[in-house]
Amino acid sequence: LQEVQQLSVTDALTGLGNRRHLIETLRVEIERANRFRRSLAVLALDLDHFKMINDRYGHGAGDVVLVEFASRVRRVIREVDLAFRPGGEEFVILLPETDISGSITVARRLGDAVRHAPFSLGGHSVEKATDVTVSIGIAVFPIHARTAAELLNAADQALYAAKAAGRDTFVVFGAPPTLRSTATSTPATGDVTVPL
Ligand code: GH3
Ligand code: MG
Ligand code: MG
Repeated sequence: LQEVQQLSVTDALTGLGNRRHLIETLRVEIERANRFRRSLAVLALDLDHFKMINDRYGHGAGDVVLVEFASRVRRVIREVDLAFRPGGEEFVILLPETDISGSITVARRLGDAVRHAPFSLGGHSVEKATDVTVSIGIAVFPIHARTAAELLNAADQALYAAKAAGRDTFVVFGAPPTLRSTATSTPATGDVTVPL
């Protein structure tokens, strides 16, 4: 029975939580954060130009990259943090008791962990490895939203802004993205978005 229960909440490819598990866990974590007056950060991640990896190296190689990505995510986050693969090349991380500044630290670490070394293609191609980058949207309870659906939606909107800003970066919901090309300019006061 335990095995069946485990399967029903787990993504078979990466071993991370699936979408169903994400929705259920997010509800519980929001309740907890609300009761103890804590913040809870939601990070929405989407691999950049992942279709190109599939097109160029094949679906099998794409799967190998997804598994390696999940493993790098696990290495970066803390034990209390929760990682999910709701679908495709999209991932969600929940950071209990984490505010905007804490989630920026984690987002920067995630970007570094993905960028620091090429991903092996697992012998699926004459190419041995490929570079991968990730875009990240950040939303924090209760600052940006108070319900599970609104929080996920806010993180998704921020993710969309990170894509629009040129990918390989992160954006905090409601904050202007800082473009990589303008990274050398002095950030405006109150600017909470920083390039990776
Ligand atoms: P963007 O930077 O805008 O996110 O571009 P993208 O190419 O990553 O986005 P798009 O949504 O166009 O493509 C997502 C791709 O992810 C297409 C699909 O084939 C691939 N994909 C989704 N699920 C899986 C999977 O389980 N395994 C593999 N190998 N590929 C997957
Ligand atoms: Mg996608
Ligand atoms: Mg993508």
